[in-house]
Amino acid sequence: MKPKIWLSSPHMSGNEQSYVKEAFDSNWVAPLGPNVNGFENDLQSYLNEDVHVAALASGTSALHLCLILLGVSYGDEVICQSKTFSASANPIAYQGALPVFVDSEIDTWNMCPIQLERAIKDRISKGKTPKAIIAVHLYGMPYNVEEINTIAAKYNIPVVEDSAESLGSHYKNQNCGTFGDLSILSFNGNKIITTSGGGAIVTKTKEQKEKAVFLATQARDNAPHYQHSHIGYNYRMSNIVAGIGRGQMTILDSHVAKRRSNHAVYEKAFAHIDKITFLKEPKGYFSNRWLTCILLDSQSTREGLRLALEKENIESRPLWKPMHQQPVFKDAPKYLNGVSDDLFERGLCLPSGSNLTDVELDRVTSAINTYFASC
Ligand SMILES: *Cc1c(COP(=O)(O)O)cnc(C)c1O
Repeated sequence: MKPKIWLSSPHMSGNEQSYVKEAFDSNWVAPLGPNVNGFENDLQSYLNEDVHVAALASGTSALHLCLILLGVSYGDEVICQSKTFSASANPIAYQGALPVFVDSEIDTWNMCPIQLERAIKDRISKGKTPKAIIAVHLYGMPYNVEEINTIAAKYNIPVVEDSAESLGSHYKNQNCGTFGDLSILSFNGNKIITTSGGGAIVTKTKEQKEKAVFLATQARDNAPHYQHSHIGYNYRMSNIVAGIGRGQMTILDSHVAKRRSNHAVYEKAFAHIDKITFLKEPKGYFSNRWLTCILLDSQSTREGLRLALEKENIESRPLWKPMHQQPVFKDAPKYLNGVSDDLFERGLCLPSGSNLTDVELDRVTSAINTYFASC
């Protein structure tokens, strides 16, 4: 069997271990310390806007804290992009709130502004104004920031920007991760940079960051004994893990360049196959191309190709199954136009890691060309 080719695997720079060693040498083996502060500063400078970053245990915990900071509680409704990974929606349920799913647009595969406004009007007519809108830059492609933010502002609903897959992407020259009233990042093992597991919340004010850190460290009141006036969480990032993050920040831009180059290689290799199409970058959009996704002409072509790649020990995966199709969310209200259902049927994610070698890329393109030559 040829060696496995993964969809997206960790890619270290070589600088990580010196930060981790420093943590051991100085005994900062705790959910605070110089690496946590250093990583937060690195992220703040990278994002290059007037934002504040708090490093957390995961992107999921960051989303949970966003909803808490926005006052989402039992019985509230929260709008969420249906085409996403389940972690975008689960924190709504943690708060005892109700997700309302909104379909995608064809141009970005992200939240459709028309369906969003339809959903808001309908929820208001039913008696409840949604408490927040969770919009996602899926696979690294920015959502239509201008239209989504305009609609959100019109109805005075805050936006939570799920930027877990889009660190390094930008929209009209502003970085993803800075567009929400609150935003989140993820450093899970498969993301564009990884700390093994981790995440961050990005806030517009220092007070919001301090509140997030307070809640993430068990919500301790200022007293010599342990005293609590709020329910707390254990969501802070460890100083060991943050060391990995500092090392990863040194190569973030080159990871983005390599992932974009993978995408270009695939586009060129399949230009002659009209059963394969790609998501183009609309004008003003810059995707980190975290995952290269292709659309096939039908579900059976997609499934045939997936199995052909599996035989070659190459991992591929259907595009994320929309939340409105998930058994766990079957009763949630939804505002659909058919786009995310169609993408799920015909779409496939290809190996996209920044550590893919030319030989590996060649194995993937050859396997796909062979499949289409024979069908
Ligand atoms: C990975 C991911 C998350 C969750 O991040 P974790 O760090 O794994 O908790 C949230 N939203 C999206 C879109 C993701 O891809």
